[in-house]
Amino acid sequence: MMNKRHFIKSLGLGGLAMMGPSLVTKAAALKPAAPAARQHRVWVTPHHEDTASELQQRYAAFREAGIGVVYFEEDSELHFRAAKDAGMEAHRWFWTMNKVDGELLAQHPEWYSENRNGQSCATHPPYVDHYRFLCPNKTEVAAYLRQQAEQVLSKDYVDGIQLDFIRFVDVILPVNLWPKYNIDQSRELPEYDFCYCGHCREKYKAVYGADPLEMPHPDQSPSWRTFRYNSITNMVRIMAEVARQHNKPITAAVFPTPEIAKRIVRQDWVNWPLDAVCPMIYHSFYKESVTWIGDAVAEGVKALHGSCPLYAGLFLPAFKGDMGQLKEGIRLAVENGAAGVSIFGKVTPEVLAVLREMA
Ligand SMILES: [Zn+2]
Repeated sequence: MMNKRHFIKSLGLGGLAMMGPSLVTKAAALKPAAPAARQHRVWVTPHHEDTASELQQRYAAFREAGIGVVYFEEDSELHFRAAKDAGMEAHRWFWTMNKVDGELLAQHPEWYSENRNGQSCATHPPYVDHYRFLCPNKTEVAAYLRQQAEQVLSKDYVDGIQLDFIRFVDVILPVNLWPKYNIDQSRELPEYDFCYCGHCREKYKAVYGADPLEMPHPDQSPSWRTFRYNSITNMVRIMAEVARQHNKPITAAVFPTPEIAKRIVRQDWVNWPLDAVCPMIYHSFYKESVTWIGDAVAEGVKALHGSCPLYAGLFLPAFKGDMGQLKEGIRLAVENGAAGVSIFGKVTPEVLAVLREMA
């Protein structure tokens, strides 16, 4: 499998994280002397060559800076336990609908989603080779993801699960990426519009009496849009059921605002049963300034109506090493109602110093 972090960077679409208020209490209880009142989060890809003593130091510094939860992209008992020993929670960052898995592709190509031209993600992945999204309406897919969540959450060193890629393929990419793919997505193009598999169309038709493929403008059908929002929301509910059975929190990395998330990846995240949400407010992707981080947080917090805390996902490379700008981003996030931030990128001593200072 391609290195995930490299893939995220190459595509420009990362994942962010979040967590629940019960966790904050628990983490604080573990280490009452922690200086920071806020419990930030960070995404980490665990490297297997790291040693226990290195991790002890690194994670102690994270905790000191007010980080309460680490989202680990892969399983690594060493990393998970080191983070927990430092007084943080260790959650699994889980790729949900996008399954870059050669075995699964070979065994079940029929589980993958299809675009409006009838091409499957199994054989015609959009944008990049490692964009392989499953169909959210197939019962076999739901059973498979449930079983995977069960496996992750059964481990005693895993404190929670964070859903990433819990969405459709981007029907519209963030505008910063259009030149990269030499594409003008001023409208929804059929090759990026999913899922038009026979199962999804039948399921929609049974309720609404029409086949989306026979509509002259399926992109303009409100009910077909809602059907797809609900398809992803149902998958979140299934994953949340598993998390609740294990009494562990479930969170999700989502697109930056409720409006953008629905429009470009069919995520209706304000209606998901989560313990916390981490919108990826990656301002550079949308050609926005740091000021927009505050706007995006305000929109999300308002739309959530207090149903769960929001942690603003910040994309460190977008700050280009300017710690003053990073401080401004954190300040705007918190002032507009974020419970904290979730950091994507290399967590340097300078970044940790900013977090400590802002605490
Ligand atoms: Zn489908």
